[in-house]
Amino acid sequence: MVVVRFAPSPTGRIHVGNVRTALLNWLFVKKQNGQFVLRIDDTDTERSKAEYETGIETDLTWLGLTWDRKENQSKRFASYDAAAATLKASGQLYPCYETEDELERRRKLAMARGKPPVYDRAALSLSDDEKAKLEAEGRKPHWRFKLSGKRIEWDDLVRGAQAIDTASVSDPVLIKGDGAYLYTLPSVVDDIDMNITHVVRGEDHVTNAGVQIEIFEALGAKAPIMAHFPLLVGKEGEPLSKRLGSMSIESLRDAGVEPMAVLSHLAKLGTSDPVEARTKLTQLVEEFDFAKIGRAPARFDPDELNRVNAQVLHTLSYADVQKQLADQGADLGEAFWLAVRGNLNLLSGAGEWAHIINGPIVPVVEDADFLAQAAALLPAGPFDASTWGVWSDAVKTATGAKGKALFLPLRLALTGLRHGPEMNQLLALIGPEKAKARLAGQKA
Ligand code: GLU
Repeated sequence: MVVVRFAPSPTGRIHVGNVRTALLNWLFVKKQNGQFVLRIDDTDTERSKAEYETGIETDLTWLGLTWDRKENQSKRFASYDAAAATLKASGQLYPCYETEDELERRRKLAMARGKPPVYDRAALSLSDDEKAKLEAEGRKPHWRFKLSGKRIEWDDLVRGAQAIDTASVSDPVLIKGDGAYLYTLPSVVDDIDMNITHVVRGEDHVTNAGVQIEIFEALGAKAPIMAHFPLLVGKEGEPLSKRLGSMSIESLRDAGVEPMAVLSHLAKLGTSDPVEARTKLTQLVEEFDFAKIGRAPARFDPDELNRVNAQVLHTLSYADVQKQLADQGADLGEAFWLAVRGNLNLLSGAGEWAHIINGPIVPVVEDADFLAQAAALLPAGPFDASTWGVWSDAVKTATGAKGKALFLPLRLALTGLRHGPEMNQLLALIGPEKAKARLAGQKA
């Protein structure tokens, strides 16, 4: 059974970058009929907030990215303590007493000597007496994991063959001086306990992967298969963090963007597939393949999202949108939706067309005589999609007007606008009474 996890920290609202991680995990695991675990990385009790956790759930639910199980790291400290005890017992987790200043001084010294700023493991040679003395002085140890210094290799599903030389990496701090766990160890312990088979995340975690593979082994477990995809950046290649506010899922939802537009866009960015609207997640699942993900950063362009959003709207069925139309008082039936969807950039625009059909609107009259002639030729009704063709032909024969000179004055009078959906659909929806009144220049 394939099991993946999406592991956000509830320290803010999630944005398009986080959701891309969630989505790639979700598409992959659905294709494998596996399980998706929502893991809330809330070990940082100070910065984690319940409202952000709720926000993550709201945003994922809105997008349709369901989870099979939810876990909170804050409820799993006993497991982390047990793993830390195992590593301490085997000597792979060792106490260090350096202050930040001391470490910074040593880093600078190493660099001045042309050496990489890797932790020198001075703490490993402290005797028990020396440690006791430091602790008596009030120093609290932080704990580092002792890397093997070997080359760690793995076959990354996105990046191909990977190797990290752990001799070039500082032994990572797993537990801080105040006893708090940093992300690295809890993540590994959870991946083991939750039987995670694949870790799918951004390439900012590639170095972590090397370190984590060693921790998996130190805890007697096999590391999951890894897939690290290039990060999402802004339109000009800038880090997304610069404009996070406007990139939050909450703000996109508030702006009226369709969930499937967000998902279509994020699923295809940085892949060999064109960025095109899909209206069902199942389509994205079918089309998903790690092999399609390129190595260059994916650029998130809000204009492109808007384009995809319009595309999505143009293909959504009446059943897909009926509830939202009703919510905005714009549910005028299937014929209405099919008539207007092609003109929308945002679903909220449907309300405007409902208003134009229902009225009252002020008709635009440029040639009252022409419109009076046209009104006299209006059939009695009821109107259907063929009414417009029959009627406008009759107006053409009677007045000699054709093309734009025929259609535009009629459209302006009937809708008050120069552009819009097909008139044969609109006229049928407007109906005989309102059409007559508007052609006579009356507000209706
Ligand atoms: N909470 C971590 C993050 O958001 C999870 C990383 C991971 O997937 O291992 O960066």
